[in-house]
Amino acid sequence: VGAVLLVLVAACSRPPAPHPPVAVAASTVTTPAPVDPERVLAFTLARSLSDQVGPRLAGSPGDARAVAWALREMKRLGLTDVHAEPVAVPVWERGAESCEIVEPAARRLVATALGWSVPTPPEGITAEVIEVASLEEGARLTRDVAGGKIVFYNIPMAPFRDGRDYGRVVPVRSKGPVLAEKAGALAVLVRSVGTDHARRAHTGSMGRDSAKIPTAAISVPDAESLHRLLVAGPVRVRLSLETRTRPDAESANVVGEVRGTRDPGRLVLAGAHLDAWDLGTGSVDDGAGVGLVLAAAHAFTRSPPARTVRVVLFAAEENSGAGGKAYVKAHEPELGRHVAAIEMDAGTGRVYEARVRGGAGAAGAFAALRGPLAALGVEIGTEPAGGGADTGLLRAAGVPAIDLRQDATAYFDVHHTVDDLPEALDPAGLDQATRALEAVLGFAAREEVDLGRLPLDAAAK
Ligand SMILES: [Zn+2]
Repeated sequence: VGAVLLVLVAACSRPPAPHPPVAVAASTVTTPAPVDPERVLAFTLARSLSDQVGPRLAGSPGDARAVAWALREMKRLGLTDVHAEPVAVPVWERGAESCEIVEPAARRLVATALGWSVPTPPEGITAEVIEVASLEEGARLTRDVAGGKIVFYNIPMAPFRDGRDYGRVVPVRSKGPVLAEKAGALAVLVRSVGTDHARRAHTGSMGRDSAKIPTAAISVPDAESLHRLLVAGPVRVRLSLETRTRPDAESANVVGEVRGTRDPGRLVLAGAHLDAWDLGTGSVDDGAGVGLVLAAAHAFTRSPPARTVRVVLFAAEENSGAGGKAYVKAHEPELGRHVAAIEMDAGTGRVYEARVRGGAGAAGAFAALRGPLAALGVEIGTEPAGGGADTGLLRAAGVPAIDLRQDATAYFDVHHTVDDLPEALDPAGLDQATRALEAVLGFAAREEVDLGRLPLDAAAK
């Protein structure tokens, strides 16, 4: 019995299996040693943010707890000049929600409102459903077809290591409702923008300026059964959402530094977003990124580089991007002293590629990282870095961008769902990603490294 129990305990406490290693030349990679999750700082930090703070949509009580958590942890980890910079954030709340098929046979659907959706009337909206398979088809909807109906967008998403299908499918959240509203629809259901086949709905912002008709995502299995029913005949659905928009609230970007030794006025920015959707605990999105940038910065406290490493935990990435905008506004006079910015917001997987985007000499300078990164199984990509959502205005102001591309094959299984929980974190992936982040930050924080400047983007001002 004892042996069986031991095996059970071991099975339960074992971390999730890491994704398969990236295929690179065998001679450059040593097999990674097994990782003790409790010794992976990025993992224990992401878990702590999940457990002690949990859901933290901008302007919610959880968001305020997250700011307090970040200030406390930065100080505990030995960062200096730790402070909160106020950010006014718009506030949207989910409230109760339900969705069910009423004809041909009653059954519940797993559904969740998209961020910024307006509510339904208290009695809900009950209407016939029509299905469209693309935004192009949505653009051809007419009042004869869609007027008084619920429009159902059924666009599947496939998993890829680089997560590229997200960019293809995600416009359905913002544009889909606008097209349906134009054609006189009463409400919109979208197949979840996710790669799993579990019964969970993926939320996400439809944008504050999107349509003013109630919009919800339904789980992939529910989307597939709705599709089968619609092939067979008419289907009526009832949708009830009690969403609310509140006046703006105060949140904060939380900032801390490892001060440079010889050239502290120049700085490398490492960012992640502190807010998270309300359904799960924001463990992979973006607790993982928060853990990564804090863990990498902590590593530099023992032996600070020449330039300053500044960690910024941005407010309100999910609901508005208000944190990224506020940072650039507050730091405008010193944007010229930002030598590079990197944002971690792609979950818990191993890093497989690093990219840079800077001035003419950036790619050449970046090649110096080839050896250290190869030892971690990371290649240097030939495409320019795309950068993150919160650092877009930094790029527009000329700050070079560095990307560490993480394996996102499993990322969109739990992204923006009730299952974005600590169980979805991969300690081995976070351990490797921390090392890759330390390598690129340490490189950019060297006194002699010059990644140049990006052309100023006047349109972004
Ligand atoms: Zn995110």
